[in-house]
Amino acid sequence: MELIYLDNAATTQVSEGVLNTMLPYFRESYGNPSSIYEFSMRSKKAMTTAREEIAAFLNAEPAEIYFTSGGSESDNWALRGIVQAARAGGHIITTTIEHHAVLHTCKELEKNGCRVSYIGVDENGMVKLEELRRAIAPDTVLISIMAANNEIGTIQPIAEIGEIARERGICFHTDAVQAFGHIPLDVKAMNIDLLSASAHKLNGPKGIGFLYVRQGISLPSMVYGGGQERGRRAGTENVPGIVGFGQAVREAAEQMSARAKRECALRDYFMDEVLRRIPYARVNGSRKNRLPNNVNFSFQFVEGESLLIMLDMQGICASSGSACTAGSLEPSHVLMALGLPPEVAHGSIRFTLSEATTREEIDFVIDKMEEIVAKLRDMSPFYDEVRGIRKGKI
Ligand SMILES: *Cc1c(COP(=O)(O)O)cnc(C)c1O
Repeated sequence: MELIYLDNAATTQVSEGVLNTMLPYFRESYGNPSSIYEFSMRSKKAMTTAREEIAAFLNAEPAEIYFTSGGSESDNWALRGIVQAARAGGHIITTTIEHHAVLHTCKELEKNGCRVSYIGVDENGMVKLEELRRAIAPDTVLISIMAANNEIGTIQPIAEIGEIARERGICFHTDAVQAFGHIPLDVKAMNIDLLSASAHKLNGPKGIGFLYVRQGISLPSMVYGGGQERGRRAGTENVPGIVGFGQAVREAAEQMSARAKRECALRDYFMDEVLRRIPYARVNGSRKNRLPNNVNFSFQFVEGESLLIMLDMQGICASSGSACTAGSLEPSHVLMALGLPPEVAHGSIRFTLSEATTREEIDFVIDKMEEIVAKLRDMSPFYDEVRGIRKGKI
């Protein structure tokens, strides 16, 4: 059975180019970039090149890129660092649909006396800008709003949010882990002060990410030790990871627009066909402001988990809610924030395409979904009732 991998928001396959770029840094050029002999200069140079390329892609300066272990660490650092720098409690504004790396950090900060406002979203998952404006208080130290959502793919008006934050002199962080390498981002044009990204969401390796910190932003270190990353994040650098991340960004820079165009077409075909062929289905998230590779459905009278398991038996990898909450029976906080009733949120499934996804694969998945949803509904007493009512009416 062939594997159909449609869970690229959870992680992606390392590209061949990325792997080949990384390999020499495991066994040939394995020197510690902090050492002074010529041999270690190779590691240092490769790291510098990667940093420059990543910075250029964001319209940032190389000195504004701080490598971390991934998106979660970058989010933690941004939020905890800004609050610590503010000293006196402080107020954070974020949204109800953030990744848990942001939300759980906020919960922890609240325990320590920080005040957090969670801004709501509309039925498409778009942040309510009026609510954001109203939430700003004299002690607001940070606005943290994700660039694109990992579950429903909704892209936020980052430039507008950046403008609001800059006008009020408030630091603006965006979790761009899903957006980076998939849609254009410009930290200067968008007035972004802090930005989190992670390589494994764009065909790079796992365990490497960065936090962009605009020059002039005061952000204390969270990891003490050596003087790496200009004294702000200690620990011997993950040289193969950084080099791989650089290559992943190079590939994204070359292919992003062509890939987005192709993925958008496949994505829209997928959504339209499912809505046409399967009754009591809906698409979650904005149709217009949406990541090119994200598809999220809810099916009434179906358990998302059952659907996932039956798709898995056909070799199809998808996700219900985010990977971090998989296995829990709580409906996704993102779908609940859209105002979906819990039973509809429970019947949700996410597919995230890659550059390698084909029309044939999508057609196969739609056929299987049609079969499986019908089968699951046949077993549902609720659906029997609905069918009975409809028959009665006819
Ligand atoms: C995956 C993801 C993260 C976490 O990144 P890691 O590198 O896996 O720690 C954070 N935020 C969003 C939106 C994500 O999709």
